[in-house]
Amino acid sequence: MNLLCTNLICTSSATGRFDGIQLCPKHYRLELTEAFLRQYADWDGIATPTEPFIKIFARFFTELGERKGEGMISAGRIKLRAFNFSRAENVVRFQMVRHLNAWNERRPMTRIVESWAANVDELSYTRESVRNWFAGDPL
Ligand SMILES: [Zn+2]
Repeated sequence: MNLLCTNLICTSSATGRFDGIQLCPKHYRLELTEAFLRQYADWDGIATPTEPFIKIFARFFTELGERKGEGMISAGRIKLRAFNFSRAENVVRFQMVRHLNAWNERRPMTRIVESWAANVDELSYTRESVRNWFAGDPL
């Protein structure tokens, strides 16, 4: 079955879903971008962002953004582990705890803290630094 995009003026095939609605790639991108920009406008850049913000932020950057440099990140990981959000000049920074060797029984699990920057104007995201985990950081 070939489903059509549900945008009224669109005749393209639907390839993705947003909020349960079938959309073509172009309209999927538009809906996701608009949803992100609404959450972004509502956040003051200082307070801990809301769960809806983190959800759409994670999806927006990992699906539409360009990852630059080293390191890997997924929307699921951001939703679960990102903390210390801040914003300056349309760049959102956050940190994430990673568990190294979590699935290796022969080596002890170690934690590190990564710092990421997501550039809203460029639609790109970059790992800026990695440091040791300290007591006081989230688990
Ligand atoms: Zn469409």
